[in-house]
Amino acid sequence: MTRPSLTMQPRKKIALVAHDHKKRDLLEWIEFNKGLLGGHDLYATGTTGRLVEELLGFPVTKFQSGPLGGDLQIGAKIAEGEIDFMIFFWDPLEPAPHDPDVKALLRLAAVWNIPVACNWASADFLISSPLMNETYERLLPDYELYRNRTPA
Ligand code: PGA
Repeated sequence: MTRPSLTMQPRKKIALVAHDHKKRDLLEWIEFNKGLLGGHDLYATGTTGRLVEELLGFPVTKFQSGPLGGDLQIGAKIAEGEIDFMIFFWDPLEPAPHDPDVKALLRLAAVWNIPVACNWASADFLISSPLMNETYERLLPDYELYRNRTPA
């Protein structure tokens, strides 16, 4: 049985999001990895994206700021197959006004089998994977049964 999949190209489409107390960490991580990141397309929530652009000096596709809908915009891109993986430094110590949006974004990443790094170490493991520079068949969940269900 063949399973549905989506081909990730060697040039990956990477979503970047950091909560306010985690932005410094993400920027330091990006500074450290800027050589590697230059070979990929970057997407980000508004404020994160602006800071990353200032740091890297090349354009990032920016959405709304997270609390203004940016998390959900990135979630929509994931559902459309437009994001390959996500680096999301969320803050485990602060409540967020847009917590439902954060949950929705993380949920969609799980639904669509998107690799997610939530902190410095996991981002290191992702970026240093040999798969970063190769094509990769990302298996997609087979949701046909779900789509064709007959609700009671
Ligand atoms: P921001 O959004 O990059 O616009 O600050 C991040 C978030 O809180 O989701």
